[in-house]
Amino acid sequence: MQYSALVSVYSALAATTKRLEKTKLVADLLTATSDADLEPVVLLLQGRVFPRWDKQTLGVSSKLAAKAIALTAGISEQKVHDLWRKHGDLGKVTAELLGKKRQATLLSRDLSVKEVFEKLRKLPGIEGVGSVDLKLKSIGSLLASATPEEAQYLLRTVLEELRVGVAEGTLRDAISLFFIRHHYPDMYQVISTLPKEKDSDTEPFLETHFPKSGPTYEKTQKDFGVSTYRELRQKLDPLIQAAYDRSNDYAIVARAAKHGREALGKIELEVGKPVRVMLAQREISIPSIFDHLGRPCAFEYKYDGFRMQVHKKNDEVLLFTRRLEPVTEQFPEVVKAVREHIMTSSCILDAEAVGYDPKKGTYTPFQAISQRIRRKYEILRLVEELPVELNLFDVIYYEGRTLLDIPYAERRTILKKALPKGVARVIRLSEQIVTADEQYAEAFYKASLTAGNEGVMAKNLEGTYRPGARVGHMVKLKPALDTMDLVVVGAEWGEGKRSGWFTSFTLACADPLDDDLLTIGKVGTGLKEIDSEDPDAVTFDKLTKLLEVIEQHGREVLVRSTIVLEIKFEEIQASPTYGSGFALRFPRVVRLREDRGADDITTIDEVRSAAKVQRGRT
Ligand code: AMP
Repeated sequence: MQYSALVSVYSALAATTKRLEKTKLVADLLTATSDADLEPVVLLLQGRVFPRWDKQTLGVSSKLAAKAIALTAGISEQKVHDLWRKHGDLGKVTAELLGKKRQATLLSRDLSVKEVFEKLRKLPGIEGVGSVDLKLKSIGSLLASATPEEAQYLLRTVLEELRVGVAEGTLRDAISLFFIRHHYPDMYQVISTLPKEKDSDTEPFLETHFPKSGPTYEKTQKDFGVSTYRELRQKLDPLIQAAYDRSNDYAIVARAAKHGREALGKIELEVGKPVRVMLAQREISIPSIFDHLGRPCAFEYKYDGFRMQVHKKNDEVLLFTRRLEPVTEQFPEVVKAVREHIMTSSCILDAEAVGYDPKKGTYTPFQAISQRIRRKYEILRLVEELPVELNLFDVIYYEGRTLLDIPYAERRTILKKALPKGVARVIRLSEQIVTADEQYAEAFYKASLTAGNEGVMAKNLEGTYRPGARVGHMVKLKPALDTMDLVVVGAEWGEGKRSGWFTSFTLACADPLDDDLLTIGKVGTGLKEIDSEDPDAVTFDKLTKLLEVIEQHGREVLVRSTIVLEIKFEEIQASPTYGSGFALRFPRVVRLREDRGADDITTIDEVRSAAKVQRGRT
């Protein structure tokens, strides 16, 4: 496939906000894609070249990209930076500079999707002496062959900031449509005749126009036992979702969809390939937990550590964070504990690694051990000074079997089999009670807080494990919400002697339904300029270095949404200024949450319910 074909879909996607139209554009593109191009196309549509579970990044900063543009266009870097400031967006600058250049070059040729994909995939592997030049050359050679429009999207892909709005949900629906188009083409015909202006009330239209007899009708009956569009989607969508939950890779799902229902059902979890972790909703009291989960339910200590996903195959152990980053090397004591105490040939476990004081044996808060996640040197000294205990609370794969669909109570039984004998301060099962009694649960919550934990987690005994989802099969209860984990989406340069730093940071919470980030305020106070004493302190200097600018508008910039801050505040107020409809009064930065990404921050629902609780109190 020509890269230009993909680019015209990017522009069409960018030009519409209608979900069904986006879905159809993607489904049509997938249909036009050969088997060999399916993986590149599905990944590039999401603005990536590695699947979600693979934490390799292209590692190209805006600065390096500006250099590549300057070299390719044959102008100074300063000129590129000037234009960047003028246009705001480096993608546009690229289009302007390189488009002209290409038109003037007789040797220009068409780019293919495969070439773009393969060249980008090789970037992270370019290391060592001369690697910067090699990277520049590689990016430059792609840019030099691109049309202005291609160059713009290419550059955004290189910067891993595509922003054309193919959210996960859209891709999932598009694969459903692709499935229908591929296996029941005359059904899809009906979708194509759908009037363009319809977006929200599509179902009745589709429902009345679908074939009520004939080969397609018989085939859907045979394959799924259904006879209407709605029923078909009700059966198909969960299958596509389950295939994604297991593979963490939409390219694999799209390929299986092409083969049919059976191929989708055959996708299993694989040891070594991290799975997105299930997320928790928040509840405000023990009675509301019972209302939510039913009686009885399980209550567990909510440890104040960090999530660790443990993969084991015979003697090989791999560890991942909640962001699916590999941390095996950093935690040799956990690897050892798993090897010695987990009695199974293969499994994937969900756990919380909690720090403890090596002398007193008491738990320490997450903050105390956070440096262990990223430190790659002096590991053995850190193991001695800041040891962790592994608290296992779930199992999702066991001896060749994927356990996502079985009830939590059964998974817990299997977990007990995997760890027949826990050892305190090494590896153990999470402390748990199963009860229908409010007072007992209340006492357990208090005991957990007294033991130095954050609160309790409660779990639906019937609940399945839903990777990456916040479906309410597990809920958390902790003392009143006075901090939030928010991602930085923008910043503003300081003035006077602070002009070299960003001094104000725009924060956003998550809207998981729309796969969106919603602004909720700005923070700037409570930060020092620089702190040479404490390497963990969050300072203007540190944040300025960490944040990566993707757009500039005068003193204000938009940044890549990768930095998550824990923010303390006095009050939540309704506010029309911010996308979330709320603003925080007196926000202060508590710490950097390096274990979190933008998909794992406080949600708009949590903000709304915290605002409600607050109203109840005042
Ligand atoms: P929060 O980070 O506040 O959304 O709370 C959910 C997190 O609590 C999970 O992602 C885990 O890292 C952590 N956690 C601590 N103890 C448990 C437990 N017993 N079960 C599940 N999650 C736990």
